[in-house]
Order: sequence, then C-alpha cells, then structure tokens
Amino acid sequence: MPPTKEERREALKDLYHQARACTRCPQLASTRTTVVFGSGNADADLMFVGEAPGKNEDEQGLPFVGQAGKLLDKLLGEIGMQRADVFICNVLKCRPPGNRDPAPVEIENCQDYLMRQLELIQPTVVCTLGNFATKLLRADPTGITRLHGRDEERVIGTRAVRLYPIFHPAAALYTPANVEVLRSDFARLPELLAMGPPRQPGEEEPVTEAAELPEPEMAAVAVDDRQLGLF
Ligand code: URA
Repeated sequence: MPPTKEERREALKDLYHQARACTRCPQLASTRTTVVFGSGNADADLMFVGEAPGKNEDEQGLPFVGQAGKLLDKLLGEIGMQRADVFICNVLKCRPPGNRDPAPVEIENCQDYLMRQLELIQPTVVCTLGNFATKLLRADPTGITRLHGRDEERVIGTRAVRLYPIFHPAAALYTPANVEVLRSDFARLPELLAMGPPRQPGEEEPVTEAAELPEPEMAAVAVDDRQLGLF
C-alpha cells in the first residue's frame, strides 16, 4: 500500500527534524543560523528548487524571503498562485558563508534531503531555479541558458515528474531583461500542471479515460514551527 497523504506529511516532518540537526557539512553546520528545510504545501503539485539559503533565509529559517523571493511571489501571483499552493526549497539547506557557491561535496551531502522531499511531496511539476538545481536534478552539466522554459519528463528517484528549468529569480534581479524571460517561462506553469502527472515507471498505458475528481486541498495545519506552518 502506498503511504497516505497524512503519512507522507508526517514523514516530511520527521525529515525536517533530522535535517535541523544535520552536521554533514561541518563548515555550514558551524556558520548557519538555521537549517532552511523548505516550506509550503506538503502535498503540492508544484515544487520549486532553488540554490541555497542567503542571509535573510538563514536568519528567518524560510526559503526565498529576500528580494529574489519577492519576485518569486510576484510571478506566482501573476499566474494566480501563492506560496501556500506550492512547496519551495533549495539544493542546500544551509547558507554557504558569504553566499559563495555550493561546493560539490555539500551538494552531495545534502542531496538525500532533496530526494526524500521529492519522494514524500510527490510533485507533478518540479521547477528548477537556476543552474545548481537544474544540473543536479537532470544529472547533466547543461546550463540554464540553454534549457530554460523547456519541460521534460524525468524519472527522479522512483518517480517521473515534469522537470521545468527556469532562470533563478536572483539572476533576473541583476539583469532586468531576464524578468521578462522569467515571466514568460512562468506563464507556462499552469499548462504544465494541467497536464497532470506523467506516466510513472512501471505504470501501464491507460486503456480508458476515467473521469477523476480533483483531490481536496490539504488543509493548512498549525504546528510547532514556522517552517512547517503550511505543511
Ligand atoms: N536564493 C536561493 O537559491 N534560495 C533561497 O532560498 C533564497 C535565495
């Protein structure tokens, strides 16, 4: 029997508690203020994966709360969505000091958390923001400039998802022309979500088209921690 939504949510909370105590990267563990696990709907169809927490995120314990996050919120609003509809996290859960790039060993150390988040949340569309998330989840060094705005079906771990690389919002802050590129890439998200999940590994091609009722939204549940506030 596959786990229920509630079981997946509980497992996600356990994972969060595990990540909070993580010391796999000794430098990051000693310089971080908080582990930024990710936040949002634990049963989201759409998951965003950024690079790593910055100063604001490290202080507040939440992903994308600085300028890049404000742009992300704005673009989400333009497609009629808000944070509570999606799950947002990063490749690294701890801030690299001075906002340096994530080191390969740190990406390696942290990737179990991201893979498990993907397995538990079961998003249909995984939107990678920028190079680090795109290269990690595609297991390929091709850069975001070539790939942005092109969706593809990918098996990540045990599940097939629609992977959709787009520019990192921080890149758009530095290069205003990129805001329009990001906006037009964002505009395709509703269409990708409407396509529903891709066929899963081992799943037979459907013979008949059964009418499916949408699942009710998972209710927001107040828990002991702000990062989990929308789980
Ligand atoms: N940039 C990221 O990649 N992630 C954040 O959470 C904030 C800024």
